[in-house]
Amino acid sequence: MQYRKIEKNGEEISALGYGAMRLPTKNGRIDKEEAKKQIYYAIDQGVNIIDTAFPYHGGASESFIGEILTDGYREKVKIMTKMPSWSVKKYEDMERYLEIQLEKLQTDCIDYYLVHTLTKKSFQKLKELGVFQFLEDAQDKGQIKNIGFSSHGNLEIFKEIVDSYQWDVCLIQYNYMDEKNQAGTEGLEYAYSKGISVFIMEPLKGGLLAGQVPDKALEIWEESETERSPADWALRWVLNHPEVTCVFSGMNHEDQIKENLKVAGEVSPNSLTEEELRRYDRVKEVYRNLMKIDCTGCGYCMPCPRGVDIPRCFNYYNHQYMFDESQSFIYLGQLGGVLSGQEAYAGLCTECGKCVRACPQKLEIPELLGTVSQELEGRGFKYKIKIGKSIILPLFDGFISFSSRFSRTDKTRKSS
Ligand code: SF4
Ligand code: SF4
Repeated sequence: MQYRKIEKNGEEISALGYGAMRLPTKNGRIDKEEAKKQIYYAIDQGVNIIDTAFPYHGGASESFIGEILTDGYREKVKIMTKMPSWSVKKYEDMERYLEIQLEKLQTDCIDYYLVHTLTKKSFQKLKELGVFQFLEDAQDKGQIKNIGFSSHGNLEIFKEIVDSYQWDVCLIQYNYMDEKNQAGTEGLEYAYSKGISVFIMEPLKGGLLAGQVPDKALEIWEESETERSPADWALRWVLNHPEVTCVFSGMNHEDQIKENLKVAGEVSPNSLTEEELRRYDRVKEVYRNLMKIDCTGCGYCMPCPRGVDIPRCFNYYNHQYMFDESQSFIYLGQLGGVLSGQEAYAGLCTECGKCVRACPQKLEIPELLGTVSQELEGRGFKYKIKIGKSIILPLFDGFISFSSRFSRTDKTRKSS
């Protein structure tokens, strides 16, 4: 594992950190056994920092991390977590949330405590409520060690936040598609120049740059003499920046962990060649031409009071364009509820605007959902759902009763 130094305290942090936002799940909850196995494996291979936050996994991420960091594992890793800035209404709220987080994490001290998702408005509010005083008091009491912030704001807001305090660290979204998005390269270099160590989230843009990628992008990667997966290329690009301290990757599969560990072990700053950098430019062009909605799937916009599954609506829509595969049928089955039993389609949106305030990518969600609805649902979608259910459900019921009758017959045969 490669380690990079935190400017303000000299701590050596692994270039790869464990992101506890997308842990493996089973029946909608953290698959504790699997997640623990994976996290222990990563720590045993040299990962020495875990990033979590109050809302991750519906509030279960912090408790889970606290639960598993036993048997000497707490001493092997630093914990980074974040104050839920949007829920703070008064000074005492900050104290209360920190107490809860210490308890959930089963620790006396949080190594890196960040103010979560600062925006211009939330930063102003927190400053008025005395956030700096609170953070320094918590530091004096030994409840937190290092102070930082995370932000999805644009460059101007980011620089303003950087200049407002002697932060130890910050956390930004950064990947080869986001060079000019949010803080971007300029923000990264700016924070670094001020002695702030920069941590990175979304290095794969919510998985979009890895896994199934457009054929044209894959062809470009495959032209290279060095065989690398799209995820390897994406992570490598981030770690190539000397200003980056650590990349958090939300890993939920053993193969991903192994691959990320390999990359983090071998990429030194400025090691990509000119030819390789040109390859990234060509891949970026492919994505830019195919991607319609810049959603990372972070889920901050959820839950929607009308039940719309916003990230999945955008995912089906992007998929249709990126892979030139019609998604209407699967969309009807999954988000129309024909197969899933749960209606969560774009057309349910009543444009209340609640989600827009929560989206770090500043997407005009209701408007975009309108487009998704138009293209994936078309006219008479409710009717299609009704028809779909009237055909599929009886077939499904028939299948279940046939299967159970068959298995009963089978058991009778076996027992006779
Ligand atoms: S604007 Fe639409 S999608 Fe967003 S929260 Fe309101 S109903 Fe849900
Ligand atoms: S719409 Fe925005 S908040 Fe919702 S998942 Fe996408 S990027 Fe995240």
